[in-house]
Amino acid sequence: MSRAQRRASLSAFKREAAGGHLDVHLVPTDAPINNPLLQRAASHWRAGIAALRPTCIGCKAKFADGAQAGAFVMTIPSGAPTAVSVSAICGDCWRDATDKEVEAAALRVVRRVLPGATFDQEPPR
Ligand SMILES: [Zn+2]
Repeated sequence: MSRAQRRASLSAFKREAAGGHLDVHLVPTDAPINNPLLQRAASHWRAGIAALRPTCIGCKAKFADGAQAGAFVMTIPSGAPTAVSVSAICGDCWRDATDKEVEAAALRVVRRVLPGATFDQEPPR
């Protein structure tokens, strides 16, 4: 599966939850981001690296200490569609991790918001 396909398939994941679902976008940092909302979220994440000291969701590498982001995991709650939360996978993990590992890391992020969540390719009803 190419990275472009991986992005497309993860973007389709939706999770139903009480009152809504969560859209999860896996966005490679080396591709242009066309969605202005996601673009702003990515800029915001980059601007906050020094202050917020985010870590790679795969290996815990610190982006403030020189790790480069390989892809963003962006989650958007359906009930607050402008509230994007951003996590990042470092370049090493993005290059070396299997799709399953990337998905597992993304799921850990999602479960911080929705405990017990699973990825579901069916659109919410
Ligand atoms: Zn990593």
